[in-house]
Amino acid sequence: HLGNATAKAELGRAAWRVLHLMTLRYPENPTPDDRAALKSFFYLFSRLYPCGECAEHFQKMLKTYPPQTSSRKAASMWLCSVHNLVNERLHKPEFDCLTLNDVYDCGCNDTSSAAPR
Ligand code: FAD
Repeated sequence: HLGNATAKAELGRAAWRVLHLMTLRYPENPTPDDRAALKSFFYLFSRLYPCGECAEHFQKMLKTYPPQTSSRKAASMWLCSVHNLVNERLHKPEFDCLTLNDVYDCGCNDTSSAAPR
């Protein structure tokens, strides 16, 4: 059936925002455990994302472009390019990945990584 395009788009914007902020707060020098966590997160996310059509496409994309987890830069640039592939498929403009850091602000009042240790 047709679904609700407005709700689907709203879900997409919320999801992308969390995902981009997550990679932009990922450690610069991740431990093997950090790397495993990010990788699992994306596979589980692609399996559980509530828009089934989107989830299916995302799973296919992960097969071709597996999550890059070696550093914050690698992860955030990987996600940005994956988002750009979705943009392309949906006939949306390409985003300039060099502006990621300026555009995204999580509002978190602390320094670097998601889970300070
Ligand atoms: P969005 O694509 O939601 O982006 C939000 C904002 O992020 C933009 O306004 C821009 O400021 C910024 N942005 C844009 N591109 C990038 C980028 N490359 N990197 C960083 N920031 C960027 N919708 C469907 O109809 N069919 C699908 O198959 C589908 N698959 C999806 C798969 C996933 C994993 C997700 C998270 C969403 C999917 N969506 C899908 C939703 C779709 O991608 C959009 O979120 C939705 O259409 C709203 O689009 P938007 O124009 O508001 O911008």
